[in-house]
Formats: sequence, C-alpha cells, structure tokens
Amino acid sequence: MSEVFRAEDLQDGGVALKALTPPARLAVFGDPIAQSKSPVFQNAALKACGIETQYIRLHVTPDELEASLRALPAAGFLGVNLTYPHKTAALPVLDAIDPAAKVIGAVNTIAVEDGRLTGFNTDGAGFLRAIREEFSVDIRDLRVMVLGAGGGAGRAIATQCALEGCERLVLVNRSVEKATSLATDLAPYFRSDRLVGPSERLAAVPHDPAALRAELEHVDLIVNATSIGMKRSDPPLISQALLTPNLMVYDAVYAGGRTRLIEDALHAGARAANGLSMLLHQGALAFEIWFDRPAPLASMRSALEAV
Ligand code: NAP
Repeated sequence: MSEVFRAEDLQDGGVALKALTPPARLAVFGDPIAQSKSPVFQNAALKACGIETQYIRLHVTPDELEASLRALPAAGFLGVNLTYPHKTAALPVLDAIDPAAKVIGAVNTIAVEDGRLTGFNTDGAGFLRAIREEFSVDIRDLRVMVLGAGGGAGRAIATQCALEGCERLVLVNRSVEKATSLATDLAPYFRSDRLVGPSERLAAVPHDPAALRAELEHVDLIVNATSIGMKRSDPPLISQALLTPNLMVYDAVYAGGRTRLIEDALHAGARAANGLSMLLHQGALAFEIWFDRPAPLASMRSALEAV
C-alpha cells in the first residue's frame, strides 16, 4: 500500500502504469507523498464499485509538476488529486477551473476529459459535509473562527464559509497580513443588509491570546487549520481557559485520535472532532467528480478507519 511511483513513470504514455493490475488511472501528486492516506480509501471505493482501476501515490516535485500534468491524457488517466506543494502551482497548467476553486485560488482535484484538464477544490466542500456530519449543523447558521486562515487549508475553509454565507467569519493567522489580505478578498460576500449586532461579520486578527479572547465571545465554531497539533509536543493553540461548553471545535489535523486542542475542548465540555471526516468527504467529492456517481462512503470510511 505504501508503494510510491515516480513522475517519470507517467511519461511516454505511462506504459508501466498501464501494465499494473488493475491499471493505474488515478493518483495523488505530492512532495513528499509516502504519507498520503488517499490511496487507502480511493482504492476501497474503486473496489466497492467494481471499477478496474487503481489509485496510486506519485512523487512529483515542483519541477516535474507541469510535465506530469500534461502527461495525464496520454497515460490514460481519469484524474488526480494534488497535495502539498502543488495546489496553487497547478493553476496555470489547467484548461478550466471550477468557479469555487478559482475564488479559493487552489485546486486539489483534477479531472481529465477529452485531453483537457479541469481543476476543482473539494477541501472546502468536504469541510462543509464534515461539519454537517460531526455536529448536525449548517455552516450558514454559525459564527466561525478559522485558525491558520492564511494557509492553504485555512483559505479553502474560510472561503467556503464565505461562499455559503456563514453568520460571521473570524480569520486568525500568526502572520496577520495574510488574514487581512484574505478578508479583503472575502469582503464582497459579507456585504448585506443583515442586522449583525455589535461585532462586524468579517474580522481578521493576529493569533495572540488577547485577540482570541476578544473574538471568542462571538464565535460558535473554532476550526484549526494551522499545521500545529499533529505532535503531542506542539504548543496549545488556544488557552484552555478560553474554551467554553457552548463551542464546537473542528481540528483539520487528520492524524487520527485526539489532538491537544480536541482534548482541551472536550475537557471544557465543548463538542470536538478531528479532520478525518474532512479527508473522507474531500475524497468522496473527488470520486464523484471523476465517475459522476455517488461515492461508496461506507466502504471508504471503513478503509480509512482501519489504517
Ligand atoms: P500551510 O499552507 O503550510 O499553512 C499552515 C498554517 O499554519 C499557516 O496559517 C501558518 O501561519 C500556521 N502556523 C504554522 N505554525 C504556527 C504556529 N506555531 N502558531 C500558529 N500558527 C501556525 O498548511 P496547510 O496545507 O494549509 O495544512 C494545515 C493543516 O491542515 C495541516 O495539519 C493539514 O494536515 C491539515 N489539512 C487537513 C485536511 C483534511 O482533509 N482534513 C486537508 C488539508 C489540510 P503563518 O501563515 O503565519 O505561517
């Protein structure tokens, strides 16, 4: 399962990949890539649907990205997922970009059809499905705080919240200028005649205790989209004293189990969930784009939970 193929395997019509049993016609590109869990649940989905195709990990460096994307049609590929560091770099190579992905400024899914490459972003929509599933709520009714709003995942999540018309959005980033710049991009989605009370509907603040304390009074859902939380030794993102029972906490980290933020939230009586559900749903949405049919979610979920 942890086999990794190389960018050169895609060249010259991808002969070696076509010769696999079943042939590889889907992949995830990244650098590094060995850690990706996507093949686990995408192959479970393909098997459950009886599709004679396999999904592989392909190690593609930034220098190899353009040639690898252009090689996909001749290699007989149906599509690919992109992970770090390719989600934004791929944009200029694509023939078409889905409108939501355009606003987010990044793609994580590409479909190949008639030799053309179309880019999508399923991270944002996968996040929406995850929130609905974990907390039985609709993002439109929520005041959302996104920690790490300046990063790739944070930007996708925050933009999706804006596109959905969430009640309020607080963009938090260590380098505050990235949050401020995103707030400028998203401001058009928050212009309305809605009565909003004392705190404005869109805010950008630095990731510091005073700013968090002030904003948390006006928030229902906290999302961690920083790269902090995967290691037990990571510093706390929010002081435990600021977490209250009314909050929902979604930690996009998908290492599985409980991060420190989740532990602290549960200890405070809040509801909390980890990023496995977002990982699952962004993958299910990609499957639906490639095959134009519902993804076999139960099979995908069991495969992911068994890793
Ligand atoms: P990224 O683009 O590198 O962004 C990292 C973010 O973390 C930036 O906003 C950065 O702030 C912030 N950050 C880093 N160190 C920090 C610290 N010590 N204190 C506060 N903020 C800090 O990474 P990414 O690709 O968006 O991924 C972020 C996380 O989301 C990762 O854990 C990843 O596994 C997860 N993710 C999950 C899913 C899913 O499906 N569940 C999908 C995608 C990503 P600065 O801008 O100031 O550097």
